[in-house]
Amino acid sequence: MIAAGSDEAVVFRGISKKYGALVALDAIDLHVPRGQNVAILGPNGAGKTTAISLMLGLRKASAGSLSVFGRDPQDPAVRSRVGSMLQCSGLPEYLRVDEALALFCSYYPTPLPIGELLELAGIRETAGKRIARLSGGQLQRLYFALALCGNPDLLVLDEPTVGLDVEARRALLATIAEISKRGRTVVMSTHYLEEADAVADRVIVIDRGRIIADGTPSEVKGAVGRKRISFTSPAAIDDERFVHSGNRYEALTESPERLLRDLFARDIPIENLTVTGATLEEAFVALTSGGREHVA
Ligand code: ATP
Repeated sequence: MIAAGSDEAVVFRGISKKYGALVALDAIDLHVPRGQNVAILGPNGAGKTTAISLMLGLRKASAGSLSVFGRDPQDPAVRSRVGSMLQCSGLPEYLRVDEALALFCSYYPTPLPIGELLELAGIRETAGKRIARLSGGQLQRLYFALALCGNPDLLVLDEPTVGLDVEARRALLATIAEISKRGRTVVMSTHYLEEADAVADRVIVIDRGRIIADGTPSEVKGAVGRKRISFTSPAAIDDERFVHSGNRYEALTESPERLLRDLFARDIPIENLTVTGATLEEAFVALTSGGREHVA
């Protein structure tokens, strides 16, 4: 039985993880309520996989305390309620897809039917194939189906869309959103910022082992508070606040009004003006680089 009173799926309190002298996670506090769909973003080496491994009880923290459904993540009662998809999984290649699913389902008290798993992962046509004969994308989707075998309350996905084509990626994200709508908790790491924007209720940005942003996708964008100004001009504008390609000029700025007033005061002709909010990608670059990139 899972601790009934715990409304939090995952709790990290002051969690640090060191590998020798390297600090991969630095005193992280993280609370994920049940039912939330969280995307963890961050550049290579930020600490995403480390955070996920701790959540799954695959590694031990160097300091701090953490719980999943109110208990130690290694507790068998917790493990049976968590489904995970990691960046690599060893599977015997001679097994057929349906056999691998049947094997994994046998580990859980209340597994999903194999037909439903094949459907959810979009691999119905591969059911009778040997694992050795699957394409990279099909194998990736099999890993996803395996993560769902136990009908988990918490689904933890480490870069689940790596290697998928556009169509398969879209289908997988739609399934993740569907699972989240069923009230399951999802924690997913990704490098694809548009995925977090499209699927998650909450985005956590990790950089060098620290959480540097935490909010809804629009809050994370809003936290940066920058706008992208774009226009064309027949004049050659010599102004380091802009990047330009041919006669199209662009700038990221916290004060588009001031920048435009300045241009008008200098009688610079501008056409095709657009002012848009920063994308999550721009927010992310600005946050992780300290905002050095073309920011006026
Ligand atoms: P990526 O996006 O590249 O998968 P990540 O955000 O998942 O990166 P982690 O894999 O958690 O990052 O790695 C965080 C830091 O810890 C990196 O500097 C990495 O080199 C280091 N690291 C990870 N695992 C180990 C290990 N077993 N031994 C030593 N250092 C490690």
